[in-house]
Amino acid sequence: MRVDFDTKLDRVLGDRSTKALRKAFDMETVGDLLRHYPRRLDDRGQLTDFGNLEIGEHVTVLARVVSMSESTYKPKSGGRLATRTEITVTDGQHKLLLTFFRQPWKKGQLQHGTIGLFSGKVNLFRKQRQLLQPTCDVLGSGTDIGEFEDETDRMRRWWPIYPANASVSSKMLMDSVALVIDAIGDVPDPLPVELRAELGFLPLSQALRQVHQPADPSEWQAACSRLRFDEAFVVQTVLAQRRHLMRSLPAIPRPVTHDGLRARFDAAMPFTLTAGQLQVAAEIEHDLARSHPMHRLLQGEVGSGKTVVALRAMLQVIDNGGQAALLAPTEVLAAQHHRSIVALLGSMAEGGMLGGDLDGTRVVLLTGSTPTPRRRQALLDAASGAAGIVLGTHALLEDVVQFAELGLVVVDEQHRFGVEQRAALTAKAGLTPPHVLVMTATPIPRTVAMTVFGDLDVSTLRELPRGRAPIQSNVVPVAERPDWLARAWQRVREEVAKGHQAYVVCPRIGGEPESAMQDSPADESETAARRPPLAVADVAADLVGGALAGLRVFMVHGRLPSEEKDDLMRRFAAGDIDVLVATTVIEVGVDVPNATLMVVMDAERFGVSQLHQLRGRIGRGSAPGLCLLVTESPDGTPSRARLDKVAATSDGFDLAQIDLESRREGDVLGANQSGRRSSLQLLSVLRDEEVIAQARRLAEAVVSTDPLLDSHPLLADEVERLSHSEQASYLEKS
Ligand code: ADP
Ligand code: MG
Repeated sequence: MRVDFDTKLDRVLGDRSTKALRKAFDMETVGDLLRHYPRRLDDRGQLTDFGNLEIGEHVTVLARVVSMSESTYKPKSGGRLATRTEITVTDGQHKLLLTFFRQPWKKGQLQHGTIGLFSGKVNLFRKQRQLLQPTCDVLGSGTDIGEFEDETDRMRRWWPIYPANASVSSKMLMDSVALVIDAIGDVPDPLPVELRAELGFLPLSQALRQVHQPADPSEWQAACSRLRFDEAFVVQTVLAQRRHLMRSLPAIPRPVTHDGLRARFDAAMPFTLTAGQLQVAAEIEHDLARSHPMHRLLQGEVGSGKTVVALRAMLQVIDNGGQAALLAPTEVLAAQHHRSIVALLGSMAEGGMLGGDLDGTRVVLLTGSTPTPRRRQALLDAASGAAGIVLGTHALLEDVVQFAELGLVVVDEQHRFGVEQRAALTAKAGLTPPHVLVMTATPIPRTVAMTVFGDLDVSTLRELPRGRAPIQSNVVPVAERPDWLARAWQRVREEVAKGHQAYVVCPRIGGEPESAMQDSPADESETAARRPPLAVADVAADLVGGALAGLRVFMVHGRLPSEEKDDLMRRFAAGDIDVLVATTVIEVGVDVPNATLMVVMDAERFGVSQLHQLRGRIGRGSAPGLCLLVTESPDGTPSRARLDKVAATSDGFDLAQIDLESRREGDVLGANQSGRRSSLQLLSVLRDEEVIAQARRLAEAVVSTDPLLDSHPLLADEVERLSHSEQASYLEKS
């Protein structure tokens, strides 16, 4: 029988193994099994002769069970009686005692006549050599261990340890793989042969053999390098193809004009662009002038000036007869973009209106709560082209929203939208795709940008505009310094007395059932026994009646109707509110320069990047900002250490890296990979930057000469497989 990657497992393995593998790991084919790589190698040592078992040494012996006895004992720690199982094994001449505590099932596993491999450390017990709690690998049973000596040749020193579970052991995987690997012929290698030679990688067949049955760790490493590269390479080929497709689509070029709105905006701008803004603006300007769609990610910290850059791009498109749409994740953000863009444009935003700028354009806002008459007008302005800029939330995606000529789509905080949503908006441009600019204030480390956002070109704003006062952050450790909390409220009063405003941020709104509470990123052990996170409602009530009595304290959170939320934000922006007690609704983009102080309650409940985003809300003006991170986490705990890092670091990229490291791979990719087969097993999106960069470069080269992979049919198959696998859903985030 010919066995290849697509052969069903039941053709090669027994029914029971097949079922167990399917149930545990969703495996159907030989390929699925061979792509389930060992996690590490275990040094089982060489088989040791029974004659020279040195005390204190770690040994592995081949032996046969000759007797068993079981007794109970009272554990020193108290509690119920525990079993102790003593099994005597022999090599035919000498005897050795195996002792197990609290493993009563060993009695069933190691019956008389069982032959197996036993590994453990030799010690002396009642003058007899013994292995305490050894590892056991049952090979079979019989009277003659000699029968198994052949098989033990195969039992090399280095054992693969597989991701396993209760029903499928690592040993079972090892045995299944052994059956399959012996049956399978040469595996066709999807990696182009010249690439493989250039990189000095093993052929695929050999790599698979070596990853599962290495003679030593160096063989295993060589196999892993090859297979790890494969994982990166297929992903990068998919992304390279997407970029290629994008480059082959037509778009209407929107070059810079020298007498349009953008030129007038530049002339009227109250500040000069930073070097970073100029560079990013040049990249975008260049993209927009080309005849295929821009597909660019603009990342930059809160306050780094992305909105201004995006606005100039919009004006460039408007100057060419196009319209721009800006999609924001929340009403608060959409409304704020509207306010700030209208303010930045001044009379240029009143095109065609009485007393307005004749050559100007119109900026309209469309959200779920836009009142009907205004909504009707906005829809009309969008459809007629009178509105050059249409801003909004998900409401923009509805069918009734039509554009005269949509030339640019800007998506703010795009990680909050799926591809379908972005596609729904770009589809409104008709047959010619619009240019697309996505913005994020969550800094994305390079490796993640290359994978999760790999089909986007990336522009980064690293510096903040000059003249912005820095934000100082301090941890308020109430565990050690309970009095500092009162001091924090005192600071709020002082700030308000100076005419400034403050935020108090809490992890929870209050009033929800316990189960709905936000999970803390902190370690379970630290938080398990603790009280629920502080709630906006409770904290606000406490402050109003206590530490901040007499100040104008209001609450804002996601459960308020959006008009009320917007109204509160407007009043806060206007200075009619001193202190806003809020959830993370104020996390992204909210811009009130007069707010200078932020107190974050239960700060350890927030992620590192989230805290950084939050504190970006203060110090937006020229007065220095102060962020107080209040926590009950004691000194020396990991969550406290994280807060100390946030307080000490102002670079969002560094913090994003810390944040990533504290999370698991699957979280980064956004895919549910728990226990299931994943397309990325060896590759770490967090650690393997070089591999990913190399794979990206090489994939780009392959795709540029052979975009449809016509002369790389095997690679095309792999790409196809990945594109269709659910596990690759992370690729859809961009
Ligand atoms: P982001 O969208 O990245 O959070 P914004 O574009 O909203 O940042 O800019 C934050 C604030 O800084 C705004 O008030 C904006 O007008 C101002 N700003 C932007 N660029 C500059 C600059 N080059 N110099 C001074 N102020 C700037
Ligand atoms: Mg912004």
